[in-house]
Amino acid sequence: MPRVLVIAPNWIGDALMAQPLFAMLRLKRPDLRIDVLAPEWVAPVFRRMPEIDEVLSAPFRHGALQLKERWRLGRALRARGHVQAIVLPNTWKAALVPFFADIPLRSGYAGEARYGLLNLVYHKDRAAQVSMVEHYARLADAPGHSRTGREAPLPDPRLTTDAARARATALRLGIAIGNAPLAVLCPGAEYGPAKRWPAARYGALATNLVTKGWQIAVLGSSKDALACAEVALAAPGVSDLSGRTTLDEAIDLISCADLVVSNDSGLMHVAAALERPQVAIFGSSSPDHTPPRSRHARVIWLGMPCSPCYKPVCPLGHFRCMNDIGVERVLSECSALAMLPESAD
Ligand code: SF4
Repeated sequence: MPRVLVIAPNWIGDALMAQPLFAMLRLKRPDLRIDVLAPEWVAPVFRRMPEIDEVLSAPFRHGALQLKERWRLGRALRARGHVQAIVLPNTWKAALVPFFADIPLRSGYAGEARYGLLNLVYHKDRAAQVSMVEHYARLADAPGHSRTGREAPLPDPRLTTDAARARATALRLGIAIGNAPLAVLCPGAEYGPAKRWPAARYGALATNLVTKGWQIAVLGSSKDALACAEVALAAPGVSDLSGRTTLDEAIDLISCADLVVSNDSGLMHVAAALERPQVAIFGSSSPDHTPPRSRHARVIWLGMPCSPCYKPVCPLGHFRCMNDIGVERVLSECSALAMLPESAD
């Protein structure tokens, strides 16, 4: 049984957008075994993908070279006999482990001029605007291959869940599923403030939803704690879970949600992969590149002349791509999902 080793991206959203690549690899070789080498902070996502046989832990710090550790891990992986490595991050250091492991075929995008480290090199087609999902899925074909209309469309990322376990997780976090509809708000975006709809607006949205009988959980990592606290302060009764959940618990909770409102973030892609009704708010990035791939998703993006700029901080200072999105607009998208009950008043 041939084995492939995939070097995982470091971001939750990118990890999810790689899943169609795994599906395509399986379609071509049903007997293929797919191992993923992933940092612990994204590993739970891969453990919920049926295409993945084993998730191996990458014990490296974010951004650290750790050359000796990579050499040691590569040597240890030799015994597994992988026939190919697919390197998803663009960095030079990400290609080191497969090289040290002596994996005969090492493929990926050229990225940081990784000739030698990789021996099957793909080039990004700068003229074609392809989505991130398509960008990764191309690695299942030979370099230069363009998908035609005759080929089956790429599947959407999907995560497995266990409903009983998810409800137990929610209860443990203080959320009783079934008492009132649950809205999960995710005001963070690790990339930077230019991808974050203002926390005060999330607060106003939460206040509105609470008056309509919703229970609200605010989710994010400890880096999102300030934004989440601002939302919770604005709307009494809101559960601020920022920094209090593992990624697995966050996935469980989102799987129970009747509505998810987020920025373009990893949790947005989680909600899409769980097919929860969702409103996704885009600022400096583009929904053409990283859309939530779900028919239950509604996207808000103003498409201003300056966007997408893909900057973490607004270079123009006015941040109109987000500041011009009012709470009413988001509420109307929520209503379009047919999820909002009539107001009690
Ligand atoms: S330059 Fe435009 S797209 Fe970029 S952050 Fe500022 S307002 Fe948004």
